[in-house]
Amino acid sequence: MIQHILVVEDDATHAELIHRAFADDSEKFTVEIVNTLTDARQRIESGTPELALVDIVLPDGKGIDLLTEQEDEVAFPIVVMTSHGDEQMAVDAMKGGALDYIVKTPATLIDLPHIAARALREWQHIVARRHAEAQFRRSNAELRAFVETAAQGVVAMDRAGTILLVNHQLEIQFGYHRDDLIDKPFALLAPKAAQAIQHMSPSTEVDTYAPGKEYVGLRQDGSKFPIEVAISFSETEGNTRVLALITDITERKRQEEEALAFQRMQLELERERELNQHKNHFLSMISHEFRTPLAIILSSSDILRKYGERLSPDGREDHFSKITRGVRRLEEMINDILLLSRVDMRRIECNPQWHNLMHFCSNLVDEVSRATQTERIELKPETERDTAYFDALLLEHILVNLLTNAVKYSPDEGIVVLSIANNEHECIFVVSDQGIGIPDEDQSRIFEPFHRASNSEMMNGTGLGLAIVKEFTYLHNGTVSVQSRLGQGTSFTVTIPQPGSDDA
Ligand code: ADP
Repeated sequence: MIQHILVVEDDATHAELIHRAFADDSEKFTVEIVNTLTDARQRIESGTPELALVDIVLPDGKGIDLLTEQEDEVAFPIVVMTSHGDEQMAVDAMKGGALDYIVKTPATLIDLPHIAARALREWQHIVARRHAEAQFRRSNAELRAFVETAAQGVVAMDRAGTILLVNHQLEIQFGYHRDDLIDKPFALLAPKAAQAIQHMSPSTEVDTYAPGKEYVGLRQDGSKFPIEVAISFSETEGNTRVLALITDITERKRQEEEALAFQRMQLELERERELNQHKNHFLSMISHEFRTPLAIILSSSDILRKYGERLSPDGREDHFSKITRGVRRLEEMINDILLLSRVDMRRIECNPQWHNLMHFCSNLVDEVSRATQTERIELKPETERDTAYFDALLLEHILVNLLTNAVKYSPDEGIVVLSIANNEHECIFVVSDQGIGIPDEDQSRIFEPFHRASNSEMMNGTGLGLAIVKEFTYLHNGTVSVQSRLGQGTSFTVTIPQPGSDDA
């Protein structure tokens, strides 16, 4: 490409020399020589040269004026030409923006094509740099504007967590002015998030992005609020930069809590509904269960009233004892029902305390042996600790019930064993017998109120004992299960969780 050079030179000899100097380079340069600033201005108006070689002193002004007249950005470079003794002016011209200067001698004038070529190369670099800088300024400004107007709070920091930049939204979120945050640790705003950043591994962090996690934000006034912090790392010019995007999630949390409260209420309602159904079912069961003993009492007392005198003493006695048994059964049922309904109404509380386990169990075995008039209950302790944590009244009820059943449902005098295992996690009681067992089809239902297995009709009972055992075990946060084989025996296992140590 041929480049256009404008030469402003009023000295005819110099002009001639310059003209000659470029004569051999016509394929590279077109050279136009004018001798006043006015002429130069006219030329420039009709087309910008690629380079101007300007004598520093001209009849109508200073050559450097051409530079100051250019708008905003210098459109073409100017190399000033001085004579010996004008060096100070040349220095001033350089300060004013000239690209270079030459001191006019025959040698430099002849060399002008090289000087021009060098100046043009340099100018090309300047233009390229200027362009890049403008672009950088533009994109930097765009980026800043983007960050500034972001809906999230933005914090840029160095690897040590020192804040380098924050945006407007962050100032609003945390109530700080940015001047109070720059150069301060990020931990001031979110201590846990700052800690998490420090713990992120250096090998994976660069250019990685950690999706939002919930933390607590600290406002300048000391108040706290829930935030979500997303973190990304980048590497610029050898420095690791950490960018934290902060979202205030107060509203989201509130909505979540509302949804949770709503869910809880629904559950409560559902539970209440179930409880009501359960109560209705229970009431209909009670009335049904009461009918059998009542019918027996009614018929025996009818017979006694109508035919009492005609009955033998044994026959009369038989009806009296039927009445007594019926009344006892009703009494037992009423007691058990009351107990269960107190559990249902949450009137029974579990108040666990530390007790000596062996002492408690051997008293219990004595008591049941006396009441059932047997000596076939054995106590098998496998305890690691002497004491256990439970509510003595509730546990007594559980074990008396299981032991009494074990005796009652093993009519052939089989051995009944109460084994206890006790460690720092749980206390396990197993009551096993060698009795009639429970048919498979009944095993899953025997903890339901009033459910009695098909093979136990001959024995007295209300079908409420195990329902109470289950409730009292649950009050301890424990579990109860049954294992049984028909005709071979049954064992019930009650597990009560234990707090770690005696001082719990
Ligand atoms: P019940 O008053 O009838 O004994 P429970 O609720 O204590 O009521 O027991 C429910 C049913 O479970 C009993 O009727 C019986 O059929 C069965 N059962 C309980 N314990 C035993 C056991 N040790 N051996 C066999 N069957 C048992």
